[in-house]
Amino acid sequence: MKRVNIKCPYCGSRAFLRPASVVYGAKAINPAAPYYVCARYPACDAYVAAHKDTRLPMGTLADKNLRCKRIEAHKAFNRLWESGLMSKKQAYRWLQASLALPEQEAHIGRFSTFRCEQVIQMCGNFFPTLDKAS
Ligand SMILES: [Zn+2]
Repeated sequence: MKRVNIKCPYCGSRAFLRPASVVYGAKAINPAAPYYVCARYPACDAYVAAHKDTRLPMGTLADKNLRCKRIEAHKAFNRLWESGLMSKKQAYRWLQASLALPEQEAHIGRFSTFRCEQVIQMCGNFFPTLDKAS
């Protein structure tokens, strides 16, 4: 198992692997799921999910606003392949090419608020009528 030193981008403290129950409490769907949580949590509300097999973080630590943006961006992005417009693989390739990012960077979990907003807008362009209807 790889050990990684992760720093909180908001306060500079270290982040540690903690179970999901630390941040979600009784509401945690999977209380044992690994998360990287800022050492200053809850004073500093920053965390990110980790892969349960490798325990590596799925992206950079995010505060509440950024977490909301990433969820929104994921929804917009998932619609590309859930709708059958393209395959999941094609969708990731499109995302990567559109943002001119190397493959390992083209993950919403690594995106800033600005980049999430770009994704939401770009994905929305595929569904102009759907957006008007909803
Ligand atoms: Zn922090």
